[in-house]
Amino acid sequence: MKAAILSIGDELMLGQTQDTNAKWLAERLASVGVPCVQFRVVPDALEAQATALRELAAQAPLVLVTGGLGPTDDDLTREALRLAMGETTPLVRDPDAAESLHRWFRDRGRPMPEINARQALRPAGARCLSNDFGTAPGLHARVGAAEVLCLPGPPREMQPMFERFVAPMLPRLDMATGVVHSFGQGESFLAERLGDRMRRDRNPLVGTTASGAVVSARVRGTGAAADAEAMDRELSVIEGIWAPYAFGRGDTTLAGSLGRALKAKGLTLALAESCTGGLAGSMVTAEAGSSAWFRGGVMCYANEAKRDLCGVRQATLDAHGAVSEAVARELAEGVRGRLGADWAASITGVAGPSGGSEAKPVGTVFIGVAGPGFVGVRRFHYPGERASIRDRAARGALALTRLAIGSPADFAVPFIWEWKPRG
Ligand code: AMP
Ligand code: MG
Repeated sequence: MKAAILSIGDELMLGQTQDTNAKWLAERLASVGVPCVQFRVVPDALEAQATALRELAAQAPLVLVTGGLGPTDDDLTREALRLAMGETTPLVRDPDAAESLHRWFRDRGRPMPEINARQALRPAGARCLSNDFGTAPGLHARVGAAEVLCLPGPPREMQPMFERFVAPMLPRLDMATGVVHSFGQGESFLAERLGDRMRRDRNPLVGTTASGAVVSARVRGTGAAADAEAMDRELSVIEGIWAPYAFGRGDTTLAGSLGRALKAKGLTLALAESCTGGLAGSMVTAEAGSSAWFRGGVMCYANEAKRDLCGVRQATLDAHGAVSEAVARELAEGVRGRLGADWAASITGVAGPSGGSEAKPVGTVFIGVAGPGFVGVRRFHYPGERASIRDRAARGALALTRLAIGSPADFAVPFIWEWKPRG
């Protein structure tokens, strides 16, 4: 089975309301193995709606429509469905829907406004779907060979109606999904490494997505490939192919994976953050239970703070500047000692938009990591504007610390944002 989704409303076309219904429906359908072949958004305009209904009905045996079922003049879904079913289809009054409407207002001690009466109308041959959370009944009809279900726009009315009337029409399919997350390389590089695993006719089906700087492999297995062991095997293979960039599955975050690495060995972490101003610390403390492995962080923005709070030598600052390999090193070692942590990471860089120079352009960031018998610094040149530079730097510090804990050699693994000296 395949489905198409039609979202209706001027507010969606104007960008005032985000189309969360389509996302919710698509996710719900995907969870039972029904792919969406098309998303469509149309305004409160009769012709556009009727045309979209006919076209989508020709493309998918299941068409889900949301919005436009209200009582006002801009609610045209009822009429559009009638047209799509055939120009001569009449609208008829549904006695049960009319009774429900009257009851809705009676229960609330309010008279029913006259315009609501039209919500009890349906195209002949369609059935009304009762709405327990609002006045607008849904509609179910055939357009050509497709089942078309029109649901109300408000998510809190739409979702229960979907569960009650649409979910029972869906196939019961064995399907399982899984995700592997990675950090440090670009999507094309990582996808290339997956090779044939990403073939579209393969089961399990593997796709990649990038969000922020995290690239994820999304795996969907159906039938035998949905078996828990088979899924686990597939995810493990991908983790192997993406090593050491892969850091976790499912809901795992970079901070969470770092925490797991520390906790497994009973180790603790400290942070010294300059240009990220506590962003890495915020990611760490967003993890429940991080108090078990996080000692704390120093937000050392000014040179004096780097010196007085983290023990960076004035001579180092004078000789190399705050954004330098030497300062990153002393920050990591200093905060590690002062907070009594096993491992520490430091971040110092130029987040921009001002403050860049020929030698240290905007996006230049040094990340230091210090641990038992280990200290290393890497220099990056992040693209983008201030917010994304800071975000990548904070995540980079967490990722590099995790890599160093696993194996000092992994600390040196190539990253996509590597600083490359010109020449
Ligand atoms: P309607 O059924 O067209 O009267 O829509 C009523 C309300 O539902 C709108 O004002 C929106 O707040 C909400 N709504 C409609 N369509 C969507 C959608 N696709 N995603 C999220 N909310 C929606
Ligand atoms: Mg509307």
